[in-house]
Amino acid sequence: MNLKVAIQKSGRLHEDSVALLNDCGIAVKNGHNHLKSVADNFPLEVYFLRDDDIPQYVEDNVAHIGIVGENVLFEKGKSIDVVEQLGFGKCRISVAVKKGERYDGMQYLNGKRIATSYPVITQKFLDDNKISAEIHEISGSVELAPSIGLADAVCDLVSSGSTLFMNGLQEVQTILKSQAVLVKSKQLDPGQQQLLDQLLFRIRAVKKAKNNKYVLMNAPNDALDKIIALLPGMKSPTVLPLAETGWSSVHSVLSEDEFWEKIEALKNAGAQGILVVPIEKMII
Ligand code: ATP
Ligand code: MG
Repeated sequence: MNLKVAIQKSGRLHEDSVALLNDCGIAVKNGHNHLKSVADNFPLEVYFLRDDDIPQYVEDNVAHIGIVGENVLFEKGKSIDVVEQLGFGKCRISVAVKKGERYDGMQYLNGKRIATSYPVITQKFLDDNKISAEIHEISGSVELAPSIGLADAVCDLVSSGSTLFMNGLQEVQTILKSQAVLVKSKQLDPGQQQLLDQLLFRIRAVKKAKNNKYVLMNAPNDALDKIIALLPGMKSPTVLPLAETGWSSVHSVLSEDEFWEKIEALKNAGAQGILVVPIEKMII
């Protein structure tokens, strides 16, 4: 029995999705010339699809699980469950208006025409804020709409904002922050759920490892107390004597968000020769 996973065939989520499976020790061939591939060393079958179609496949249980952006997930409104946020494919859906236009809050949008390929998400934002505006659904080149007179504002996917800028628009309001998520069907049988749990265990180990670094440093023994107090470690730091008397080697794990702050403090406390090493998997 195979667990069937739907991932994007090509586009912004494709590479990170394949890389995630590979990092989980699952050898998946690249999907550019295939629609389907079977992993060699895990009972997993991969379907390569347009991202828009993934929620439907998962709802129908044709694919048991999938990797898709929250933007697409919320827009499609299918009845499926989010299992895990994956930390890649980060982008946002924002409202943009013509450069130079005075936007003085959401009320600006009252009575306006908004062009978007996300009518569901846009309508929800309008309803939540009790704004009444006209939505024009278009499937591409949304950022052109204001300059050709089709709309007063757009509601579109933004990553850096450079596309908006080049089209004479300014981003004025974020309405959804999105990243890739792992989703699952509501109809998994116990065997499929068990395979998903195994996969999820690996995904979490990979994610955790990416957010952490292994650090090694030398420390004079009289500075050890201060240094150990700065280090969390998985339980507590490892302290090993160096060949030179009066010195120790201290090993620990630091998370990305506190990393630079801690390194600075460790140096000030007397640590020397600090080495930082990536961690491949982390199982707690
Ligand atoms: P498909 O052919 O599969 O329908 P698409 O053209 O609709 O692809 P892409 O542009 O490849 O979609 O984007 C896929 C998803 O990646 C988006 O729905 C969004 O979740 C995410 N995404 C979009 N832009 C970015 C970006 N600049 N950086 C990271 N992720 C992004
Ligand atoms: Mg798409």
